[in-house]
Amino acid sequence: MSQEVRVRFAPSPTGGLHIGGVRTALFNYLFARNQGGKMILRIEDTDQNRFVAGAEAYIKNALDWCGIKIDEGPDQGGPFGPYRQSERKDIYQQYALQLVQEDKAYYAFDTDEEINALRERLKAAKVANPTYNAITRSNMKNSLTLSPEEVQARIASGEPYVIRLKVPKKEEIRFNDMIRGWIMVHSSTIDDKVILKSDGMPTYHLANIVDDHLMEITHIIRGEEWLPSAPLHVLLYQYLGWEEEMPRFAHLPLILKPTGSGKLSKRDAQKGGFPIFPLLWKEAGEESVGFREEGYLPSALVNFLALLGWNPGTEQEIFNMEAL
Ligand code: GLU
Repeated sequence: MSQEVRVRFAPSPTGGLHIGGVRTALFNYLFARNQGGKMILRIEDTDQNRFVAGAEAYIKNALDWCGIKIDEGPDQGGPFGPYRQSERKDIYQQYALQLVQEDKAYYAFDTDEEINALRERLKAAKVANPTYNAITRSNMKNSLTLSPEEVQARIASGEPYVIRLKVPKKEEIRFNDMIRGWIMVHSSTIDDKVILKSDGMPTYHLANIVDDHLMEITHIIRGEEWLPSAPLHVLLYQYLGWEEEMPRFAHLPLILKPTGSGKLSKRDAQKGGFPIFPLLWKEAGEESVGFREEGYLPSALVNFLALLGWNPGTEQEIFNMEAL
């Protein structure tokens, strides 16, 4: 590939960074270094309800402590601050509107009660996957069922609305994951996901795709919990006409809880499990101690994470960042 490799670490500032997040950042960083590429930090803070003040600073300090350096940011020079999605709202709105104009997305005016009622009806009818989709959308209040005049009147009157992606009824969505290989998903299994919320903020899906494209990301290296979202992302790339330049995906197997059941989550970190530093915010509840306070050296943590699931085929256990 002649193109410069560009990767991103894109955490949501919803809590402390635990070792799963650090590993994702580390793999991105090492891949960028290995390929002579660049790594950016993008704070995905469009979900105001889950925002935790202090989390961004925590993430930056944790990366810094581990020796993971960011190569680029919205400011020139450096040290590079992160891109923040909350500061790029207008950009996402513009693409959401473009999708509506091209009949690839639509306005939906349904209230929570109406959507719950839809779910109940579908459940009662024993529909396996009760979602707002290509079949059910025709019974709901949206710009596919209302007249254009009515849609305009509702918007003009300030009625809340969301924008949903118009997922095709029957289409195979395919992509090649660098770890999992070819994946094929039938579009009928995908919900007409909300891409723009009633507060004008994009959802994760839209913001993530728009930014990966505009920031010219070449490789998306992230945890496997995002694999189920990837078909929707591929569809968004197709709808926005960016399929040719779609980044390559690599979904990493997850670090599990010590019990082996389920992925290690931020909540585990908040319970004093595996943060890098103590958590500083109230929500954390209990007193927590981080790896740093426990006396671990950053290089020990970095080596532990790098050698998780991989070794060079020798007995060597300690590498510096350069060697990794
Ligand atoms: N904001 C997502 C997270 O917190 C990022 C997922 C991705 O890398 O696309 O994990």
